[in-house]
Amino acid sequence: MSKSIHIETVAIHGSMKKNAPANDTVVPGIEMSTIYEHRNGAHTEGDYNYTRLSNPNRDQLETVLAQLEGGVAAAAFSSGVAAISAAIQSAGAGAHILVPSDVYYGTMRIVWEFAEAWNMDIEFIDMTDMELVKASIKQNTTMIWVETPSNPRMLITDMVKMGEIAQKAGATMVVDNTWPTPFNMLPLSLGADIVIHSTTKYLGGHSDVLGGAIVVKEENEQYDRIKSIQVSQGAVPSPFDCWLLSRSIRSFPYRMRAHNENAAKIAEFLVDHPKVETVYFPGLEDHPGHEIAKEQMSGFGGMISFLIDGGYEQAKKITGASEIIKAATSLGGIESIWEHRKSSEGSNSPTPDNLIRLSVGLEHPGDLIADIDRALG
Ligand code: PLP
Repeated sequence: MSKSIHIETVAIHGSMKKNAPANDTVVPGIEMSTIYEHRNGAHTEGDYNYTRLSNPNRDQLETVLAQLEGGVAAAAFSSGVAAISAAIQSAGAGAHILVPSDVYYGTMRIVWEFAEAWNMDIEFIDMTDMELVKASIKQNTTMIWVETPSNPRMLITDMVKMGEIAQKAGATMVVDNTWPTPFNMLPLSLGADIVIHSTTKYLGGHSDVLGGAIVVKEENEQYDRIKSIQVSQGAVPSPFDCWLLSRSIRSFPYRMRAHNENAAKIAEFLVDHPKVETVYFPGLEDHPGHEIAKEQMSGFGGMISFLIDGGYEQAKKITGASEIIKAATSLGGIESIWEHRKSSEGSNSPTPDNLIRLSVGLEHPGDLIADIDRALG
């Protein structure tokens, strides 16, 4: 598809068939068969063979994902953590990897549980401090992991500066773009080499399908390793999940616009609330990363974290007191949800006791504000 075409059009047409014969369906069907007939008695390179290796629905999904991020290719996975795990493994044994100290808890768990077995040296550092990042580069630093805004404290990393550091070090810069989404930020245009997604979140958008993806700027050796992990370790999404995701992606840019708008209104409301101590939302002018976020993002997303004036138990109680907002983990759905992040992450989590993480949905913002006010009261 031409580069000048806008995201709304890419989202709709990127997963549709091209040059389909007359009378063919406009919306692609679901191909559930796991096997394909070898007409000449043997499988020919490039043909469909076995669904773990490739499938038309997965191809359609990977095509639209690559186009949305401005990449050249994508690999779809059965979950976001499967994509994270594949990207980290692709760095290879002996790699030194820098990861933000405030990062999605599941990424931390992969590091804690597998880095040693994979013979990797993975270091968590503050990625708002560029001097620290530079000083932490070693000879074997082959990957820098970025999450901006970070989960859950919404710290902002300067992508362009990080891209320069990564390039100088000869390291691959990987960005988990699950929270901003390609609607608000395009990491590959800001210096990243690889983009990760939990498609379970905004791209799926309805809290009913699990998925993950890796999008790359170049089809290089690292991408070959990622593809090999995808098909040989086999954490691939089913044809139905791919179809459902492609369907959801068609309305994703319009959903995202409304997530951005609602979250901005709710962040403003929370700032003035007497029961709220601090609001973490990069759209607020006094957010420490606001100026950088404004440069690299076209919108600030639908996620807000905030600290209440109270402790662990009070924060938990508040998330159970809302009527519209569901107390649930995850994010990115059309329905608003919130959670007391510390109890969801467990006792070794570095998240503050009084932090509530809110995924702002597409209900009327006035109704959400009234619900939050009631629960805080
Ligand atoms: N990346 C980020 C930033 C997330 O917030 C999450 C889940 O919350 C994931 C990845 C993992 O995604 P999944 O649950 O699809 O494995």
